[in-house]
Amino acid sequence: MSQTASRSAIFLEEMGVGAHWSLRNRPAAPAPVDVAEPAHEPSVDAEAEQSAFTKAVMQAVMEPPVVEQPVRAQPVNEQPVREQPAPVAARAPMPEAVPASAQRTVPVAAVEPVAAVQPAPRTGMAGDDSTAWFDEAPVPARAAPVSDEAIAEMDWAQLRTAVATCTRCQLCATRRNAVNGRGATDASWIALSAGPSRLDEKDNQPVAGEAGQLLDNMLKAIALKPDADVYVTNLVKCRPAAEDGTERPPTIDELTACRPYLHRELQLTGASMAMTFGQHAAKGLMMGPAARGKVMRYGDAGLPVVATYHPDDLLRRPEDKAKAWGDLCLAKAARD
Ligand code: SF4
Repeated sequence: MSQTASRSAIFLEEMGVGAHWSLRNRPAAPAPVDVAEPAHEPSVDAEAEQSAFTKAVMQAVMEPPVVEQPVRAQPVNEQPVREQPAPVAARAPMPEAVPASAQRTVPVAAVEPVAAVQPAPRTGMAGDDSTAWFDEAPVPARAAPVSDEAIAEMDWAQLRTAVATCTRCQLCATRRNAVNGRGATDASWIALSAGPSRLDEKDNQPVAGEAGQLLDNMLKAIALKPDADVYVTNLVKCRPAAEDGTERPPTIDELTACRPYLHRELQLTGASMAMTFGQHAAKGLMMGPAARGKVMRYGDAGLPVVATYHPDDLLRRPEDKAKAWGDLCLAKAARD
């Protein structure tokens, strides 16, 4: 065995592994040459060199490399933000006093990947596109509510402006539009609904759409001209909406807050007859019990009031139109 083969065999023996494989089709060995080869015994120096080599290999294989930890970024609130240097990957320690021949075969230690430096969070720096600071921005102050006395002195233009910007009740926070009345400003009749529907709010007029057309036809049926004789409005000018977005009847507080506007509309028009459309309008106007089929009286002046169905209800239940016709005839008789 050659000197190199002898070293390899010793190395494998030290590593605890033997030669597990051999060539299947080993070529026929050439005929031995009958040459006398001098006996070779490993020298003392060679054994010492081999032992040092084996020790260096075992140390490199068994000891894990020591890796320096990357420097942690300082919190922004404590230190000014600085560029953090990228951590340098540590190298595996080299074995000590390794002979030159062993250094050629030392396994290469795995190199730790370079850790990514996390950028520090930005706080209000120039170019910051965060909108979180909006949370701390002061909420614009709500306009002061208009007083009952001021409303009682308003003309039509002032009244419409006051309604459009009104903050007298909580409905101003959820409304899309405050809906003013429509029709004749000197009407002898006033037609009242409880509050704007979603469509009314969108069209910015009370009893809009198909329901409005039916209302006009009902008024015409008792010889009224909708644009000349009737003023149509709501008890509350802003849409009362439940938490799920559906419509709900106005509360007593909302009715009370909005009532000065209705009183001023009654004064400005001079209407002497009122009809309510829908049960919430009748109960809301009277602030208590109300019923169809009789003439009720409202306010100090004893304004005659007749309740009937809302056109939306009649569109859903056409069979109630006969009762509504009876209510209209009752109102006409009370007015005449
Ligand atoms: Fe003002 Fe009437 Fe609207 Fe309430 S419902 S915010 S009182 S206009």
